[in-house]
Amino acid sequence: MPELPEVETIARGLANAVVGKTIADAVVSMAKIAVAPPGVSFIEALRGERIAAVGRRGKFIVVQLGSGRRLTVHLRMTGRLIVQAPEVSEPHPYTHIRLTFTDGWRLCFADVRQFGRMRLLAAEEVWDADGGVEPLSEDFTSEAFVSMLDGRRTPIKTFLLDQKHISGVGNIYACEALWEAGIRPNRPAQKVTRPARRRLHGAIRDVLQRSIEARGTSVDDYVDAEGLKGGFQNQLSVYGRLGEPCNRCGQPIMRTVLGQRGTWWCRGCQK
Ligand SMILES: [Zn+2]
Repeated sequence: MPELPEVETIARGLANAVVGKTIADAVVSMAKIAVAPPGVSFIEALRGERIAAVGRRGKFIVVQLGSGRRLTVHLRMTGRLIVQAPEVSEPHPYTHIRLTFTDGWRLCFADVRQFGRMRLLAAEEVWDADGGVEPLSEDFTSEAFVSMLDGRRTPIKTFLLDQKHISGVGNIYACEALWEAGIRPNRPAQKVTRPARRRLHGAIRDVLQRSIEARGTSVDDYVDAEGLKGGFQNQLSVYGRLGEPCNRCGQPIMRTVLGQRGTWWCRGCQK
């Protein structure tokens, strides 16, 4: 599933490709994927809308429309946004929503497993009230993170995956940040020492930033808005590296299951 760096990369690519374009028409071939406010037609509402901006909130792509409405997109497991030039006549396989712009370009939402959603929001609609802090924002300070863990008995890795606390961190970056900070993934959050919390705060920001610079991690079928794979899979320290030697201490990387998620870590240097 795309996490913060992948969604950020997709959003930046989309911003380059579609900002300023006006939607001429929309086609929805799977109704459950296109969500609109009660009484609003997804298709009718989008006709004539201009794309004002494309950004990201957590793991959501947020398309700001000229009227003040927004489209939020969650790709879930296999969702993809594809920008097609007018000369491309073949529809992308598994396309469920197709927006055609006045200049003939198209934005397609394709999803093999159909868990993804494109949701139209009214202009004033609040949708992310439960979302946690953005880990690359100024609000995510070291002190704020240190106190977030107080009284939390849940394993630190499970805590990191909870989008109510920190927005956009998923399995890959939780594993990588815990390795970087030298913290055992199943340690209860409240038992992580204060110096280790500060290291983890820095490590979360570091792995996310480095992955954005590498245009995300392509360990499954993730590609960006231009259809290109990311490069951070070549820099992973633990994720998916079962049995390979740790880059820091040489011990073989372990895999356990924590909160029903595969968890890669090093017994030698994560305490
Ligand atoms: Zn190690």
